[in-house]
Amino acid sequence: MSPRRARLLLALIALGVVAGAVCGWAFGPAMASVAWLGELFLDALKMLIVPLIVAAVVSGVGSLGDVRRLGRLGAVTIGYYAATTALAVLTGLVMVNLIRPGEGVSLEAAAPVAGLAEKAEIGAADILLSLVSPNLVQAAAETQLLPLILFAILLSAALTTLGPKGEHVLAFFDGLNEALMRVVEWIMYLAPAGIFALVAHRLGQAGGGEAFWGQLQAVGLHVVTVLAGLAVHFLVLLALLAFLARRGLGYLATLGRALLTALGTASSSATLPLTMECAREAGVRERPVRFVLPLGSTVNMDGTALYEACAALFIAQAYGIELGLGQQALVFLTATLAAIGAAGIPEAGLVTLVIVLQAVGLPLEGIGLLLAVDWFLDRFRTTVNVWGDAVGAAVVDRLLGGQTAWPPARGTGS
Ligand code: ASP
Repeated sequence: MSPRRARLLLALIALGVVAGAVCGWAFGPAMASVAWLGELFLDALKMLIVPLIVAAVVSGVGSLGDVRRLGRLGAVTIGYYAATTALAVLTGLVMVNLIRPGEGVSLEAAAPVAGLAEKAEIGAADILLSLVSPNLVQAAAETQLLPLILFAILLSAALTTLGPKGEHVLAFFDGLNEALMRVVEWIMYLAPAGIFALVAHRLGQAGGGEAFWGQLQAVGLHVVTVLAGLAVHFLVLLALLAFLARRGLGYLATLGRALLTALGTASSSATLPLTMECAREAGVRERPVRFVLPLGSTVNMDGTALYEACAALFIAQAYGIELGLGQQALVFLTATLAAIGAAGIPEAGLVTLVIVLQAVGLPLEGIGLLLAVDWFLDRFRTTVNVWGDAVGAAVVDRLLGGQTAWPPARGTGS
């Protein structure tokens, strides 16, 4: 996509977000009439996730030429994910301890949370087990992405040991990836209308402006704490981008379409095709685009991790339970784990929050306090999740790019 067209599309998508918010606010539930348009855009993106992840990871890892090189790429990637997720949780903990949003909140505002606890009866072992699926077709149908990524890594590792036979298959996946990225470009033209409809419909579902304003006010300081924490972490990532990847606001602008799509869809998985396309346009080389971004979209969720820490301490404060340093350390660990375990779909973080609450013995009913505004905060934490992945791709590109002859990004020659 030419830079001029990309800028125009970014402006149209931004307009879509604003117009969606205004219409949802003003017309409330009547905006259900445009729901189909948002659904169409979302389904078109979702349609691409599974084939794109398999083609990208197989061709990306396969292009390393030798499986042993995966160790270095994997180690730097995981190191970046772990460090930034830890920073995010720390930021959340500091903010919630400073602002203390839960104090004085009326527990009567809590909505019933029946079913949520059972749905989220997951522990650390389940997260490990989710790495492998006995049935790949079922995993694909349920968009469980980790087993698909693991399978793609194993397949590409095997292909690199087969000589010319393996190269033919890798070339197939490479071509498939290119074709799918072309489809992403086409679907991107739907984004302004699709995102308008998604935002307008969701705000309409919340009852429109007045009703939503009331819900916001019931837990107003919680909303402020989370948004402030997310803003701080967004800036921390921008600083990391500048220092480690030597990139700046130009990168942010190019990624703008993906970030606004994350805001509109509340799903980092659905946004993945656009994140990959924008990162390529920004000149990030193919290997980080094809490896760091797909993996990041499922395991690297800075915004979700920050949110889980804020939410757990908010609930503790609301119930008048003082958490000491040791218990906050436990929140730190479990919030990280819960973010890794959360799927890249709307409001997944609310479900895995149960892990954190159970670990420190906080009342699960506390989640009821957060239900009404979760859809709203979800959009912002998803945006930070996607930004974290995009910065990761640029950082890994820079840290490892100089040492191996990586294929250049399309059309940039960098
Ligand atoms: N909606 C988030 C995402 O897709 C996950 C969450 O925090 O609920 O990244």
